[in-house]
Amino acid sequence: MKKIILEIKDELIQIRRKIHSNPELGFEEYETSALIADYLKKLDIQVRTNVAKTGVVGLISGSGKGKTLLIRADMDALPMDEENSFEYASGKKGIMHACGHDVHVAILLGVAKVLSQLKDSFCGSVKLVFQPAEEAMGGALPMIEEGVMENPTVDGAAAYHVWNYPSGTIGIKSGSITASPDHFNITVAGKGGHGATPEKCINPLEIAARITTRLNNIKLQTPGLVTICSIIGGTGENIIPDTALIRGTARALDPDTRQKLYNMIVDIANEEAKKLGAAVDIDYRFLYPPGINDEKMVALFEKAAKQVIGAENIIHMEKPDMTGDDFAYFAQRVPSCYVKLGGAKEPLHTSNFDFDEDCIATGVEIMCYFALKFLETR
Ligand SMILES: [Zn+2]
Ligand SMILES: [Zn+2]
Repeated sequence: MKKIILEIKDELIQIRRKIHSNPELGFEEYETSALIADYLKKLDIQVRTNVAKTGVVGLISGSGKGKTLLIRADMDALPMDEENSFEYASGKKGIMHACGHDVHVAILLGVAKVLSQLKDSFCGSVKLVFQPAEEAMGGALPMIEEGVMENPTVDGAAAYHVWNYPSGTIGIKSGSITASPDHFNITVAGKGGHGATPEKCINPLEIAARITTRLNNIKLQTPGLVTICSIIGGTGENIIPDTALIRGTARALDPDTRQKLYNMIVDIANEEAKKLGAAVDIDYRFLYPPGINDEKMVALFEKAAKQVIGAENIIHMEKPDMTGDDFAYFAQRVPSCYVKLGGAKEPLHTSNFDFDEDCIATGVEIMCYFALKFLETR
């Protein structure tokens, strides 16, 4: 296996750069999915395209009947400008691969190449899922609804996400691994007027400020948080506006806390509006569920990783971070393992995000060993 990976290492880096330079937003990953489908077809892998619009699914069947492992890579980029100056920086204004999904795709294509060459040596099958729109509306659930977990039925799932761990390390954890990343928009409707006569108005900005302060100070017994990320309202120094808009995110690691946060946000917004005679309209979007890793899958992944990077390079995460990922939908259905791959040089979602490309080969090798171990287990 090492030999194959050494041979394809540079090719995978080139693929990553190509995708990086041509980023596409969620459900618009047309060229990325065409590149993926083309690559898989050349490997004689059975390919299904246009799954949930732009998703691609490859199926590698081994030499006999056995279990099926699903491996997911998300494909979408973010709506932001890139500030890197390397030659493969984004060629599109306002779109950038700042979350490493280009790396995820390159790794899964590497896995495809290695495992397709080894298919006579294992039983069962490996399903390669290239998923659209992780960052926005979510492509995992529509792919599941279009049957990616059937034919053959999936027994387990795995995925990487690049992370700010040192190059050559991975972060693992069983149990809670990602949060529910729900979004909300609170519109406060007051009564506008002249800045000189606040007594005749209901200032929605004041109410928005009160709501924001209370939401930012929510304290919980269990992991969860509320962050206000945008307040919009007003057009001038002497005009009280009619409305103000508060936008933010609520995150939790379990369904009860998630529901509790929703209730608190609705209550606080209504209470503060009522105090000053305003009204609120709350648009609350429950996005992805909290992600839970399976203990046995994580242990198996750790075994595979030890073989490649050694025990000293495996980070046992004490607690999950509060990012969300719709891989959680796969994890709701089958035992799963979501792993952080070290090598990100800058924080995710920043305009100078970059990744140590040597980790692509490491990621491929660990995932391939893991897949083979998974298919061996009964
Ligand atoms: Zn992201
Ligand atoms: Zn991401």
